[in-house]
Amino acid sequence: MLAELRGLNEECGVFGIWNNPDPAQLSYYGLHALQHRGQEGAGIVVSDRERLRAVKGEGLVNDVFDEEKLRAVEGTAAIAHVRYATAGGNGIENVQPLLFHSSTGSLSIAHNGNLVNANRLKKHLERQGSIFHSSSDTEVVAHLIKRSTLLPFKEKVKSALNLLIGAYSFLVMTKDEMIVARDPQGLRPLALGKLGEGYVVASETCAFDLIGASYVRDVEPGELLVINDDGIKSERFAVETNRAMCAMEYVYLARPDSDIDGINVHMARKRMGRQLARECAHIEADVVTGVPDSSISAAIGFAEESGLPYELGLIKNRYVGRTFIQPTQELRERGVKMKLSPVVQVVKGKRVVMVDDSIVRGTTSRRIVTMLKEAGAAEVHVVISSPPMSNPCYYGIDTSSSEELIASTKTVEEIRDTIGADSLTFLSPEGMIEATERPFDEQNRGLCLACFTGEYPTQIFADTVLPHEKELQN
Ligand code: AMP
Ligand code: SF4
Repeated sequence: MLAELRGLNEECGVFGIWNNPDPAQLSYYGLHALQHRGQEGAGIVVSDRERLRAVKGEGLVNDVFDEEKLRAVEGTAAIAHVRYATAGGNGIENVQPLLFHSSTGSLSIAHNGNLVNANRLKKHLERQGSIFHSSSDTEVVAHLIKRSTLLPFKEKVKSALNLLIGAYSFLVMTKDEMIVARDPQGLRPLALGKLGEGYVVASETCAFDLIGASYVRDVEPGELLVINDDGIKSERFAVETNRAMCAMEYVYLARPDSDIDGINVHMARKRMGRQLARECAHIEADVVTGVPDSSISAAIGFAEESGLPYELGLIKNRYVGRTFIQPTQELRERGVKMKLSPVVQVVKGKRVVMVDDSIVRGTTSRRIVTMLKEAGAAEVHVVISSPPMSNPCYYGIDTSSSEELIASTKTVEEIRDTIGADSLTFLSPEGMIEATERPFDEQNRGLCLACFTGEYPTQIFADTVLPHEKELQN
């Protein structure tokens, strides 16, 4: 059941640029800055105002593109995508942006997020004769857009978006227009920037910094932006909106130099570390160390607040990708060994506080505790700058099914025992909310905390027929 509900777009990154003489090159740089959001494939679709052309491939941005390939797709606008997927759905046909040619014109689409009801919509569309080329739920959206031939393009996109449940930051491009949309909950980040006379959009603001674009604002939940030669127009496609930004973006996913809704990710992580230190003031230790790279900010915050020295207790081999890329448990375990080494001089004989941002399966923590102890650490106190993750994510983050989440079946004490730590402390949900400094209330939220609390901001079982969906069934 869960497998059926889960789509294949995980944690990706999107980038778009309108009205620029060098859209392919700048998209390449933009994707470079977003590489941490997906390493399995990358693509750029360029518009030269007459046609849309794609260059894409599997692997890292650097492997997929070269000067020659980028020069072959000159134009004035582009949308681009880095892709992350763990199970199935590999293969070039799933690398985005997807590009469709038809008698009514070409259409390209890039998506970050995951749709809860993609399979349901797909079945309806297949019954009506649609043929799908990929297993990506993004293609469902393309078919929905193409379906209503009589409407103006923007209206077609709006009516398609109104059928979707889940998380999405979409970039849709025809040869003469770019449409940008963010889901009504604002689950995944999406920011708008300006470069010269043109516009840029990106999953994270770090992409703007690299290309010298200036940040304008974040795209609002439920907002649709139409960018064309007349400039930029904003409108709402959804009435019910609230803010449920993924808390894990602040905890782990986003790059520390990015700002989400004006809040810097590094600073938010540091505050999480500070808060965590307040929540485990009872721990007696000699040094604090963070698991590179994503936990360094929280470890610095922890050290500042606790007054303990921050030390480089673990070194990362930069030339090994993120551990999650390797799909099997065995490979993942080996991946951790390849990736991190302890600095014996720092940890030997010391009571070490090891800060990590999250525990998913528990593999990383267990390996690191063992590694630190083998290096001579007297005690290892594991502190985690997020609460126990006990519920799966349906919004595009690869935290799989409940069975794979150690906190879904084990208590904190049982997890401590499994990972072999002397103590284990998780940041409280309240502490995490406070540390982000986002306005938060139960009603309108401010953050999605579903993987920690089990309270999902949308329906997660797509069993309710949406009012608009009825027309699809005819
Ligand atoms: P695990 O070994 O399964 O407990 O994974 C925990 C580690 O994975 C932590 O060190 C995190 O930095 C990292 N992590 C957390 N969430 C994710 C995610 N959605 N994708 C990839 N890595 C993650
Ligand atoms: Fe982010 Fe967790 Fe919500 Fe998924 S469930 S969007 S990972 S906070």
